[in-house]
Amino acid sequence: MTTRVVILGAGFGGLELATRLSEELADEVSVTLIDKNESFAFGFSKLDVMFGRRRPEEVRCAYSDIAKNGVEFRQELVTSIDPTARRVVTDHGTYDADILVVALGADLDPGATPGLEEGGYDFYSRDGADRLRDVLPSFTVGDAVIAVLGPVFKCPPAPSEAAFLLHDFLTEHGVRNATTIKLLTTLPSPIPVSPDASARILAGMAERDIEFWPESVVTSLDPSQKTASLADGRTINYDLFLAVPIHRVPAVVEQSGLAVDGWIPVDPATFETRFPDVYAVGDVTSAPVPRAGVFAEGQAGTVADVLVARLGAGANPKPYQGTASCYVEFGGGKVGRVDVDFLGGPAPTGRFNEPSVEFMGEKALFGSSRRKRWFGR
Ligand SMILES: Cc1cc2nc3c(=O)[nH]c(=O)nc-3n(C[C@H](O)[C@H](O)[C@H](O)COP(=O)(O)OP(=O)(O)OC[C@H]3O[C@@H](n4cnc5c(N)ncnc54)[C@H](O)[C@@H]3O)c2cc1C
Repeated sequence: MTTRVVILGAGFGGLELATRLSEELADEVSVTLIDKNESFAFGFSKLDVMFGRRRPEEVRCAYSDIAKNGVEFRQELVTSIDPTARRVVTDHGTYDADILVVALGADLDPGATPGLEEGGYDFYSRDGADRLRDVLPSFTVGDAVIAVLGPVFKCPPAPSEAAFLLHDFLTEHGVRNATTIKLLTTLPSPIPVSPDASARILAGMAERDIEFWPESVVTSLDPSQKTASLADGRTINYDLFLAVPIHRVPAVVEQSGLAVDGWIPVDPATFETRFPDVYAVGDVTSAPVPRAGVFAEGQAGTVADVLVARLGAGANPKPYQGTASCYVEFGGGKVGRVDVDFLGGPAPTGRFNEPSVEFMGEKALFGSSRRKRWFGR
């Protein structure tokens, strides 16, 4: 009898785990991979789409391309999770799992910030990026505000990248002198784990006349006045408001009882939740690393090691290391790299590598190699 593994969510975490299990345990497990969407897109491709560098259909990887031994993909909406019984209900049926892995990511909640849906744009969702692709060319004069609205958000470098790429976009369209760019964030610096990366980003912003407002919490927008209010009483004018909305676990996770204080707690060495044989990886957890695809992928690798050791002939797994390399686009065709280590020492570290054209190529390879590995093309 094969072990029934049900993976909820086919993002960075779910795709990597399904791939590893197919490579190493295809005879021992039957994997059901469930996602509500028909395709995957890398987080960073939203920036490509919004700035018109790639078309939406170019960045989508169809789940129908997944052809892996022992893995079956189902496009279904997960509507309930019972972690005690390891039973999942979708809009199409019911699944009982021997091992259940929750990799459902973080949802965006633009409605949590009054005025945002009427007066601003989100650039963290596929629809938001698609919409901005049409909107940005008509922004020719006025104040652009990019704002991170919550304390927890995916990919800490992405808002800074958006500011640099907006600068390039407006410059190319000949309207940079008629516009301003401000980046507001809840964080004290662009990438707190790496003072060197933060200093380089701040220098890059100063060179490009981009204002950086740290520890600035936007609480609401007034679309009729085109102003945003901050928690400390300040207000800011905007003509174009680009938001990183408040993040939260998907409603189905909230209703399942898996989350505590908003996110799923896990054993940071193995990613098992407090429910036996239920694991969680990626943005949906409160693991002590940032929300980013590279971390979700590494966590999935650890769960794969754990399952290979349990079900196959694997060695005892090494605990999760919390190391990864994150790319930061500086515009002008250059990318920097931060090599981070969250769990290997007494405090997290982030070694910064100067922006270069070579890292742009490395970032492209990062995407294309995963695409090939997960989707075969
Ligand atoms: C603009 C931007 C730039 C980024 N750049 C980078 C980068 O350069 N490097 C990097 O490492 N990370 C980057 N990220 C972050 C990265 O995309 C996420 O952190 C990563 O995708 C998290 O992986 P995950 O597997 O936890 O969740 P996800 O990849 O979000 O996958 C979760 C999946 O669950 C599915 N799902 C959710 N609810 C349900 C449901 N009820 N039923 C069925 N399916 C459901 C979703 O459809 C989704 O496919 C970026 C993100 C953004 C927005």
